[in-house]
Amino acid sequence: MRCEIVAVGTELLLGQIVDTNSAWIGEQLALAGIDCHRHTAVGDNPDRMLAAFSEALERSDAVIVTGGLGPTQDDITRDVIADLLGVELVRDESLVARIEAVFGGRGRPMPANNLRQADLPVGARAIEQMPGTAPGLVCPVGASTGFDGDDSPKVVYAVPGVPWEMHQMVEGTILPDLKRRAGISSVIRSRTLRTWGRSESGLAEDLANEIERIDSDGGATIAFLASGMEGLKVRLTAKAATDAQADALLADGEARVRAIVGDIVFGMDDQTMESVVLDLLVAQGLRLATAESLTGGMIGTRLTEVPGASRAFVGSVVAYDSGVKQSLLGVPDGPVVSEEAVVAMALGVCDLLRADVSVAVTGVAGPEPQDGHEPGTVWMATCVDGEVEADRTLWPFDRPRIRQFTVITVLAALRRRLLARQDG
Ligand code: ATP
Ligand code: MG
Repeated sequence: MRCEIVAVGTELLLGQIVDTNSAWIGEQLALAGIDCHRHTAVGDNPDRMLAAFSEALERSDAVIVTGGLGPTQDDITRDVIADLLGVELVRDESLVARIEAVFGGRGRPMPANNLRQADLPVGARAIEQMPGTAPGLVCPVGASTGFDGDDSPKVVYAVPGVPWEMHQMVEGTILPDLKRRAGISSVIRSRTLRTWGRSESGLAEDLANEIERIDSDGGATIAFLASGMEGLKVRLTAKAATDAQADALLADGEARVRAIVGDIVFGMDDQTMESVVLDLLVAQGLRLATAESLTGGMIGTRLTEVPGASRAFVGSVVAYDSGVKQSLLGVPDGPVVSEEAVVAMALGVCDLLRADVSVAVTGVAGPEPQDGHEPGTVWMATCVDGEVEADRTLWPFDRPRIRQFTVITVLAALRRRLLARQDG
C-alpha cells in the first residue's frame, strides 16, 4: 500500500502558509505503518491540480488531498476529483441538511455558495467526522466500472485545509480505511520522553548500547528529535499485535531509557517544562512569581499558556529598565547584569507579589554589548524557601534564542529545586 499527499493552495506556493498538514499526515502514516512516498504542493489551478492528482494516483494506491474543499469559487478540489474519476458531481441531500445544521447552530444565515460543499462525485462518500461545514471525501477509483467502493484497487481521499478539521477526519476515517486496505492488523504506538540539559550527540552516546541491544533483542525502538528550546525528544515506538502488548513494550523501553539518562527527562508526550513546574508547585502548595528583564514577560507568557496556571502562578514584574529594577524590586545601585542584581530581583518579587517561590533573569539579549558584557551574558536565579541560587550563563546564540533558552533554562533550574525539596 503506497500513499501520497497532495496539498492544495496557492498560499502554500507563495510561502504565506507553511504546509504543516502534509507534515502531520506524513507522521500519522508512518506511525500507522503505511508507506508515504511523496508530498506535493499545487496551486488552486484546475489543470495543474488535475495533473498533480493523476500523477500521484498513477504512482500510488492511495492519494490524500488536503485543502480546497471550502465554499468559495477557488475551492475546486471536489470538481477536479470528479474530473479525475470521470464522474459527475451530484448534490447529496443529507449533506445539505448537515451543513444547514452547522450554520443553524452558529445562528447565522447560510450563503447559497455553501451548498456546493454538499456535492459529491458519483461513487464517493462523505467522511463521517465533519466538525466544520466542509465534508471530507472518500473516492474509490473505478467505482463507476463496477468495483465495490471498499475494495477498489485505488482510492482518493480529500480533507479540508483547516488543520483541526483535517486531523479528525484523518484519524477517524482515513487511517482506519488505509490500514484495512493494507491488511495491517498490528498496532504501532509511541510515547515521547521530553529531555532538557544534554546535547543530541551526548544523549545518543548515552543510549548507544541500549539502541544496539534493541537491534538484536527487539523492543520499542528509539528515535531522537532535536526541538530547539523544547529540548530533545526521545521517541519510543513499539509495534505489536495488540494495544496492551505495545504498551508493555513501551513501558519496558521507557524504564530502560530513564535508568540510563536519569532526571534529564522532565516530562512525557504533551507535558512541557512549564506544565511540569506548575504541577510541582501545586503539589507542594507553593505560589510562583517571576521577575523578568531580558525576557520581557516571556516566562509569564509560557506559564499562562498552561490551562489552570492560576493555581500556582501569581504574576510577573517585567523590570526592563534599571530604574524599575531598583524602585520596584529593590535592586541596589550598580550593574544590573550581576549576581547582586538577580538575587535582589528574585527576593524582591517574592516580597512584592507575596509569592513563596520566584525566578528572576537579567542579562544582555544583544546584538550590542551592554555595560561591558557580551551579548548572551545572562544571570538566572531561583528563590525557594527564601534561599536564592544564582548562575551565570553565556549563550552563543542570536537575540531570539538567547531569550527563549533563558526562559526554559530558568524553569528547568526551578524544577530541579522543587524536586529536591519534594524528596528532601
Ligand atoms: P475552508 O472551508 O476553510 O475554505 P478548505 O478545505 O478550502 O477549507 P483551504 O481554503 O485550502 O481549505 O485552507 C483553509 C485554511 O486552512 C488556510 O487559510 C490555512 O490557514 C489552513 N491550511 C490550508 N492548507 C494547509 C496546509 N497544507 N497546512 C497548514 N494549514 C493549511
Ligand atoms: Mg478555502
